[in-house]
Amino acid sequence: MMAYSFLQHKIMGAIEADDEYWRWLEEGEFRLPRCASCQHWTWPAHFRCGRCGSWEFEWTAIAPEGRIFSWTRSWYAFDRVMERKKDVPYITIVTELPAAGGARVMGVLTGDTSNVRIGMAVRGTIQPPSAKTKFYPSVTWEIVR
Ligand SMILES: [Zn+2]
Repeated sequence: MMAYSFLQHKIMGAIEADDEYWRWLEEGEFRLPRCASCQHWTWPAHFRCGRCGSWEFEWTAIAPEGRIFSWTRSWYAFDRVMERKKDVPYITIVTELPAAGGARVMGVLTGDTSNVRIGMAVRGTIQPPSAKTKFYPSVTWEIVR
């Protein structure tokens, strides 16, 4: 049992379509929702498949491997994420995941970021919940050399 859980910090009773994403990350698995009926990847998560209307999703494990779709460097500590003040400047990327139909997820880029470019291959590492991530588990990404 982990010391912190995103579930402890959610608004009481709120059920979100992406709850399973966070729950699996806490379990150490990277999973995204795939329609049980038509197999369409749906991310960001929804309660219903936008393609066929099914309400059933399979949270499918994939390797956290993809390519940088976009990136930005934060030079300032923003009010809502002062927990990251010591990390400034840091890079946030949008990773495109070929294994999930091109779904895109966000995360912080770690390691040597000096030559970051769109299209670079990246690999993710699941991080446990912390104050820095508002007690959500997260995925940090590193450029594959
Ligand atoms: Zn579907």
